[in-house]
Amino acid sequence: MSTAPIPFIDLKTQRARLGAAVDEAILKVVNHGAYIMGPEVAALEQDLADFCGAKHVLSCANGTDALGLVLMAKGVGPGDAVFVPAFTFVATAEVVAWVGATPVFVDVREDDFNMDPAHLAASIRWARDNDLRPVGVIPVDLFGQPADYPAIMPVAEAEGLWVMSDAAQSFGAKLNNRAVGTYGIATSTSFFPAKPLGCYGDGGAVFTDDDDLIEVLRSLRVHGQGTDKYENVRIGINGRLDTIQAAVLIEKLKIFPDEIEARDHVAQRYNAGLADVATVPRVRSGATSVWAQYTLILENRERVAAACRAANIPTAIYYPIPLSHQQGYKHFPTGPGGVPVSERLSAGVLSLPMHPYLAPEVQDRIIEVVRAAV
Ligand SMILES: *Cc1c(COP(=O)(O)O)cnc(C)c1O
Repeated sequence: MSTAPIPFIDLKTQRARLGAAVDEAILKVVNHGAYIMGPEVAALEQDLADFCGAKHVLSCANGTDALGLVLMAKGVGPGDAVFVPAFTFVATAEVVAWVGATPVFVDVREDDFNMDPAHLAASIRWARDNDLRPVGVIPVDLFGQPADYPAIMPVAEAEGLWVMSDAAQSFGAKLNNRAVGTYGIATSTSFFPAKPLGCYGDGGAVFTDDDDLIEVLRSLRVHGQGTDKYENVRIGINGRLDTIQAAVLIEKLKIFPDEIEARDHVAQRYNAGLADVATVPRVRSGATSVWAQYTLILENRERVAAACRAANIPTAIYYPIPLSHQQGYKHFPTGPGGVPVSERLSAGVLSLPMHPYLAPEVQDRIIEVVRAAV
């Protein structure tokens, strides 16, 4: 059996497949010279809108800015409480703290890694009882599967809260035949290279159907500009997407549907090879996943990780510490009863190599090593 190193995410093979298309697209931008807000930026926004069915798309510098821009547009500030899962990448809570509001950590469900609607309801009540002003919820579509919006939206609506979707890991997925990008008041995503749809640097986008919100977002993206470039009607940021990155994404989006299928095929193969020895990820009925990560829950994670390391198979732990326990965040509140599921998951999850170009014989080697170790 081969022991050649296996990439965790294989961008080289993707690059070879894209051939000259990306090179030419980049060169075109280098030569036309509109490096900032060039024609590729608007073209990409239209392509993304067509792809997911959102009315408006605002491209921006990264997925964190995408989240932050919506909070700024909604005027979220001190005293406001925004509910975020404890088991996610830090950016989801970070942006709430940016604007001076309070992130309240909600637990997730063990079966899909996503926000627990029952704990959300309890956490909103708890926040009201503790002199916070609940204003919004940011569910995360962790590892590529949409959160349980049909259960989360009624809880938020009953309390008068907006919902914004953090789809940094799930762009391209669907829930009940509705694409990610169309849930809640807005959806944010990231084009960080390792995300399912990544560029060759940092990038992000906001999706919304709201005609007023998109106008405010466009202004905020460029220093709060008004109708004239040097008129500033609000405090904004420098949050534009580079034209070169837009050009790369236009080309990558063309093969994305095919890559989504290939990712699902890889995930199904992992499931078939590992379901009897580990807790494999489950996609809820009506949902699809773009498999940003393929994540097992293990009793003996350290042993499995060590066996993989010895066999030159990279693994990763997303995420080793719940946000509510992080040094920079532990002073923020957690919903009633804490986040026991997030704690358990942090101690037991292990992500395996996942990308659309994982060859069956390489995957069999991974499955064999994991099986032997558990
Ligand atoms: C990657 C990620 C982000 C942030 O995206 P960047 O482009 O890296 O700023 C936000 N939320 C989640 C859940 C992510 O995985």
